[in-house]
Amino acid sequence: MSNCVFCAIVDGSAPARIVYSDDDVVAFLDIRPIRPGHTLVIPREHHARLDTLPPELGGKMFAAAQRIGTAMQQAPVGSGRTIADGVNLALNDGRAAFQTVFHSHIHVVPRLRGDRISLAKGLVLRRDPDPDATADRLRAALEEVAGER
Ligand code: AMP
Ligand code: ZN
Repeated sequence: MSNCVFCAIVDGSAPARIVYSDDDVVAFLDIRPIRPGHTLVIPREHHARLDTLPPELGGKMFAAAQRIGTAMQQAPVGSGRTIADGVNLALNDGRAAFQTVFHSHIHVVPRLRGDRISLAKGLVLRRDPDPDATADRLRAALEEVAGER
């Protein structure tokens, strides 16, 4: 779709810190991360909302999110080289549900035990001081997980 920023990331005309891609999906760091490592998984094909998203494609997005969430819990991704203790997967569908970019996507947010205060701070600041290093660590973590298969 011509004026969609996520389609522009897929076709390479907009910049993104891509951490994973395959024939069906692309995953990249959120530009305003709730926590360092916060990643978005999108289908290559433009679907504004869930209603047009083929379930098989949703399955492929979920599989990538699962893989990224696993990697975040197996190797250091966050600042301070922390390994996540858990992840949140979220999909906001519709303005009422806080969707702001109308190209369906899954958020993968790494979580640490007892991170409530830093999460609250992250929700306000939404900034990673060194996103290039975070992207490198996440790519390395994903390679490690792929190597174990
Ligand atoms: P949502 O509210 O679920 O629609 O989330 C949209 C997310 O996309 C937000 O967390 C934004 O920070 C993120 N975002 C918007 N534009 C870009 C971009 N060009 N690159 C990376 N992330 C983006
Ligand atoms: Zn799009």
